Amino acid sequence: MSDAAPAAVPSLLFEDAVTDYRAAMHLAVDTVADLVASADRPYSGADPAALTQTVSAVDLDRPLGSVEAALGELRSVWLDSAVWFHHPRYLSHLNCPVLVSSLAADALASAVNTSMDTWDQSAAATQLERQVVAWTAQRIGFDGRADGIFTSGGTASNQQALTLARQDALERAGLPVAPEGFDRLRVLATDQSHFSVNLATRTLGLRPDAVVTVPTDETHRMEPTALRAQLDRLAEADLVPMAVVATAGTTDLGVVDPLVDVAAVCAAAGVWLHVDAAYGGGLLTSRRHRGRLAGIHLADSVTIDFHKTWFQPVAASAVLVRDGAALRHVAHHADYLNPVRTDPRRAAMPDQVGKSLQTTRRFDALKVWTSLRVEGADAIGAMLDRVIDLAGEVADLVEDDPRLRLAQRPALSTVLFRFEPEGTDPLEADRVADEVVTRLLLAGTAMIARTRLDGQVWLKLTLLNPRTSVDDVRAVLDEVCAVADDCARTELLEVAR
Ligand SMILES: *Cc1c(COP(=O)(O)O)cnc(C)c1O
Repeated sequence: MSDAAPAAVPSLLFEDAVTDYRAAMHLAVDTVADLVASADRPYSGADPAALTQTVSAVDLDRPLGSVEAALGELRSVWLDSAVWFHHPRYLSHLNCPVLVSSLAADALASAVNTSMDTWDQSAAATQLERQVVAWTAQRIGFDGRADGIFTSGGTASNQQALTLARQDALERAGLPVAPEGFDRLRVLATDQSHFSVNLATRTLGLRPDAVVTVPTDETHRMEPTALRAQLDRLAEADLVPMAVVATAGTTDLGVVDPLVDVAAVCAAAGVWLHVDAAYGGGLLTSRRHRGRLAGIHLADSVTIDFHKTWFQPVAASAVLVRDGAALRHVAHHADYLNPVRTDPRRAAMPDQVGKSLQTTRRFDALKVWTSLRVEGADAIGAMLDRVIDLAGEVADLVEDDPRLRLAQRPALSTVLFRFEPEGTDPLEADRVADEVVTRLLLAGTAMIARTRLDGQVWLKLTLLNPRTSVDDVRAVLDEVCAVADDCARTELLEVAR
């Protein structure tokens, strides 16, 4: 330890440390601002093995003594090779450029360090969260009985929704909260549903085959008549449908399941309908495309990811329920935290912890609140409209290019395609797709994703940047074709050899 720099005297955020606080925050902001302003590609293209080495060379037992030095080190170990979602050629996953208003709010939430579990840790922050939840529920079209809670992401929101659905199904079917009960439960979803639905059934103790796949139509939307047939089959087998999970904006194709018809089937069968709108939830802010969510108010529960189509930083998600009473399934009272209270003075001091699967919880609602107060919902919707338009324009480009094949017209803001010039062997096209994604990632000049659809590997562009132009995407498609051509040729050479 002798050659280490002197450790800094701990600077806790006390009244005499506000100067340190201002300096540290300014340094952090300046660091990010400089990098954002100068990023000329989404990723540096740095050799991943070299990065691993740079990181492992840092000795966490030898403090540097100052925020300035640590931030300097962070540039080389992380920031100079961070992935920049604001870059116009970042077209990979459901990450968005973030609103500056929400970043200011996040800085407040971190520094004040509010925890949302009980009123005596959050005070008015509880009311702010409840108001954002109520506002979102109203946008969905739920009535005054609705409620909900912020979570860390769509995965957690789906987990909570399915937890409520499981308890509800057991209660209604008179089944025990035990394996004998769980074993009879089934969840109905399509092959386009998010993997977190499957994951949730596992953590909820359901059987490995608990998720029943509902067939889809030619555009990969859930088929309501097929759903009804599946429900009939479950009834014949004396199995209990715990929930139907419809997706409003599937992760790959962005398709919205036919919510009105699905809801009608669910209502007739008395089955919980969960709508996973992690991706499509932003449509609630769009004046032009709001109608695509028609029927979402018929859901029993809804997942919304503010950190996808609402241009908010990670993490910000919520699970909403049509009937707030459903949240009783996760309610609990701990003597040290939220005992049952009878004192009337406590009536205006609600504790959120009894509605959540988390205890200590960040004040993530604040960033949504702040963006609604600064920009407003219409401005968020207009940015989403822009990327939906862009997806249409990009799909046109793909359709017009004889080397490329479009999977289907975009439903939201993703475009799936394959590099498949005349006479390409399908397996070869799969291999080329994988190779292209990896080579682009290693170069850092453009980032795109891949997925599997109908048994084939597809390249995928996720468009969430309202500044990305069709020319930006054209340049990426040209790069994709150049790299793919090169991969295809390398393969031919190897075959010839
Ligand atoms: C992204 C996504 C999720 C998971 O959300 P996280 O915030 O990443 O946990 C769930 N469902 C759908 C449809 C998604 O697109």
